[in-house]
Amino acid sequence: MTDHYAVIGNPVEHSLSPAIHAEFARATGQDIAYGTILAPLDGFRAAALAFRNGAGRGLNVTLPFKQEAWRLADTHSAGARAAGAVNTLKFEDGRIAGHNTDGVGLARDLKDNLGCTIRGRRVLLMGAGGAVYGVMEPLLRELPQLVVIANRTLEKAVAVVGHFEALQKFASHGVSARTYAALAGSRFDIVVNATSAGLADVMPPLPRDIFAPGALAYEMVYGRQTLFMRFATENGARAVDGLGMLVEQAAESFFIWRGVRPATRPVIDMLRKA
Ligand code: NAP
Repeated sequence: MTDHYAVIGNPVEHSLSPAIHAEFARATGQDIAYGTILAPLDGFRAAALAFRNGAGRGLNVTLPFKQEAWRLADTHSAGARAAGAVNTLKFEDGRIAGHNTDGVGLARDLKDNLGCTIRGRRVLLMGAGGAVYGVMEPLLRELPQLVVIANRTLEKAVAVVGHFEALQKFASHGVSARTYAALAGSRFDIVVNATSAGLADVMPPLPRDIFAPGALAYEMVYGRQTLFMRFATENGARAVDGLGMLVEQAAESFFIWRGVRPATRPVIDMLRKA
């Protein structure tokens, strides 16, 4: 019998998740169908429960419902608890388990696909929204030298630092919050754009000398060259988009649902060629 899964969001029609999971299922021989659910902005809970009651086995949750998904879940994985948000729901034995695979997705893309060492490195995260909350714990567990959170609204960056206070010990030089202006004179080995600015083709005001020699500039938006990626390339960094993170977080969800870990590289290559 085919098991049913879907990605739920608003908007959701351009999601690559159905293509990614169809390819995972084909490659691993799993009998699943994976669709999209466009939920009304005030209708996440009803849509998710209707899918479950119709024998759905799990959901990926995208903007703007990750906090609501947290509230819907009966249990939360360690990753979901750290992030305070859920992007993967598993329906099993009448209970709803909540997970967050975004952070694992970024860490795996950096390490396994891009050959980028996080340990001992200076990391700058731009933004202080859901994506930053999702990636903080897995990044800190890789033992960076330091993590700086820069955000347009400083208070939100300060709140991120406070939320992860107990994990500060994993970064030898700690975690701190700054405005973009206060970045002047600092250099980083890994700079992650976790703002939604790239979607609107603008970029946060970064100093030109922000990149240390050999730095990696990681744009969470995928599928196109953003202003941040262009800026990074012009200023000596290696720039990559977030497609690998998307595929890696999907692979982790697939593993949570099916207990089988699909190969990601062929799917990343397939989507880059599409
Ligand atoms: P979010 O919660 O809405 O947060 C957006 C952040 O962007 C806020 O910190 C906001 O700053 C900042 N921002 C927006 N416009 C800006 C501008 N013009 N200049 C400077 N800062 C700006 O969004 P999110 O869920 O964290 O997602 C962030 C991005 O990551 C999105 O583009 C999303 O698509 C992407 N993402 C990708 C993956 C993947 O698998 N590749 C996974 C998750 C997310 P303020 O606080 O000052 O408003």
